[in-house]
Amino acid sequence: MEKEFVIYNYHAHTARCQHATGTEREYVEAAIGMGIKKFGFSDHIPCPFSGGYVSGIRMRMEEAEGYVSCIRQLAREYRDKIRLFVGFEAEYIPEFYEKQMEMARSLGCDYLIMGQHFWDSEEKGPYAGAATKEESRICAYVDSVIAGMKTGSYSYLAHPDLINYQGEPGVYDREMRRLCLAMKELGIPLEINVLGMQTGRNYPNERFWELAGEIGNDVVFGLDAHKADGVRDIKSYRKCADLAERFGLKILEDVTLKRP
Ligand SMILES: [Zn+2]
Ligand SMILES: [Zn+2]
Repeated sequence: MEKEFVIYNYHAHTARCQHATGTEREYVEAAIGMGIKKFGFSDHIPCPFSGGYVSGIRMRMEEAEGYVSCIRQLAREYRDKIRLFVGFEAEYIPEFYEKQMEMARSLGCDYLIMGQHFWDSEEKGPYAGAATKEESRICAYVDSVIAGMKTGSYSYLAHPDLINYQGEPGVYDREMRRLCLAMKELGIPLEINVLGMQTGRNYPNERFWELAGEIGNDVVFGLDAHKADGVRDIKSYRKCADLAERFGLKILEDVTLKRP
């Protein structure tokens, strides 16, 4: 039977990242209303920037504790209706990695997902979703994802098709094939991003999912909710489910969360 909507989702944000809106409670109640059984918050991970840089797209390190305790409180309150989890969506950036892991462990986070928006400090860029014809960028993106996933710290790869390479199709295929093969070998599921579908971004990228279908990767849906309405977006979910069906993608029944 075709599913109407997701029954689990591990990709959602909170207003702490400065580009999401609404209260955590609104997301949780939306999830319960939609029949979701397991719901994870994975807000953008804070980075221990040196030199006083302050990010406009993520919380500060000192906000992480309040974030985790807020979700834990809701988890207790709603325990009879839904299972809530808390973690982060993180880039793998070697200079921040150890400190971020230390933080995630000390706060008792349930999981991390990787969203490789940057492979160098955000301060330096570039943003992976910026259109580019530079072959070196798509190679750097894939290299950094593979290196990060080899740590074993991340439960899945969010929007693997975030890299917005507009150059030679042969280069795109070669690099995305390399990424999909490595993720298959490491047992890392790939996420079809429902928010990207809703907002008409460069992802989900059809060519990418065609390759993932050929290679036989494990696939999950991620709402990537930045507001409670994102937890009710049946229309965009439907389009994502159609895409998965078209390319014969293997949708997992659930994600095995790895403790960081
Ligand atoms: Zn975001
Ligand atoms: Zn996200």
